[in-house]
Amino acid sequence: MAVLLPVAEALVRVLERAEPLSREFVGIDRAAGRILVEDVLSPVDLPPFPSSSMDGYAVRAADLPGILNVVGSVAAGRPESRSLAAGEAIEISTGGVVPDGADTVVPVEHVCVLAEQVEILAPAGLGDNIRGLGGDIAAGSTVARAGELLTPARLAALAACGTANVTACRAPRVAIVVTGTELRAPGQSLGPGEIYESNGVMLAAVLERAGAIVERAQATEDTEEAHARALESALTADVVVTSGGVSVGPHDLVRKVQARLGVEEVFWGVAMRPGKPLAFGVYGKTLVFGLPGNPVSSLVGCLLFVRPAILALQGHLSPEPAFRPGVLSAAVRQRPERDDFVRATVVWTDDGASLVPILGQESHMIGHTSAADAIVHVPRGEGMLEGGSTARFLRLD
Ligand code: AMP
Ligand code: MG
Repeated sequence: MAVLLPVAEALVRVLERAEPLSREFVGIDRAAGRILVEDVLSPVDLPPFPSSSMDGYAVRAADLPGILNVVGSVAAGRPESRSLAAGEAIEISTGGVVPDGADTVVPVEHVCVLAEQVEILAPAGLGDNIRGLGGDIAAGSTVARAGELLTPARLAALAACGTANVTACRAPRVAIVVTGTELRAPGQSLGPGEIYESNGVMLAAVLERAGAIVERAQATEDTEEAHARALESALTADVVVTSGGVSVGPHDLVRKVQARLGVEEVFWGVAMRPGKPLAFGVYGKTLVFGLPGNPVSSLVGCLLFVRPAILALQGHLSPEPAFRPGVLSAAVRQRPERDDFVRATVVWTDDGASLVPILGQESHMIGHTSAADAIVHVPRGEGMLEGGSTARFLRLD
């Protein structure tokens, strides 16, 4: 690991290999969290007719104030075919079609209801309480764009325009291979020298939330045969993520076995802390990530490189980690060789996000990390980032 690759450079090398996967139609009922790969234009105006935003009376503004004859009633979904003449009012519910001839709606609270008439004492403005035809979305305009995430509100906008299916890339299949003879699944009992396996559930959670379909198996023993068996079947996925066994110890076998199986290594070793011995390679179109076993290193590597790749495979236009600006609450020492990703809690103040580094920054400390909200990027350098200086942070939720 003579030359450590700068973090930004490593991300470029990953993303240039992460070509969007093939496209498929997805019913919008199943499309939450997917990424659109084609613009969607609305075939209809929204609202599709001038509609009332209040329960009240549709009238002509020129007749007010005055006493008007009530000549009909409109409910949502039950329009009135007759049009409104001078001196008339039509009762109307929220969402009802404003009848021809009416140019304003007076809310029922401002109306004095008589036998078959209404008295309205105040004037009203033209168009008051009327939602104009196409006022939200005009027919032919773009409702959602290629590369955008299908958020709940975007799904609703698509549904409101009558869109039943969208085009998305198929979800990437990810095989997670955790390595380590010492690892036992939670729920089993621990023998001497054993620990519970915790990276699998963490990596799966990050990647499933990014849209991947994740396959996991039991932890793989640190023998070449066991690694080869696990990797051979994993390499049929779109993305392989290994955990552990990627450093320089005698039992770190992942890279060696991958090379034997034909994985072409793109890089190994990134100028970051935690997570330096991160490996990335390709096997045909399959992207192969080797994350270090220490849980915090694994998490940081996954957020900085694997998650962006999963988004890029789905056609996301800005798959890079979404760092935001904040302010350090206390001084942090920079490291000359490597960018540091310091775990912190975020305290929201009137000036924005205040980033408070947590105690317990060692890369095995997943317990301490679980109390953090963010990782803060401390670029490599010779000095200190003083308290009060700005820094970028990535949320850990
Ligand atoms: P390695 O990268 O395999 O050398 O592992 C580094 C450290 O992380 C060792 O202390 C391992 O026991 C621990 N470790 C490796 N994989 C896992 C895992 N899946 N869950 C929890 N700890 C792990
Ligand atoms: Mg290991």
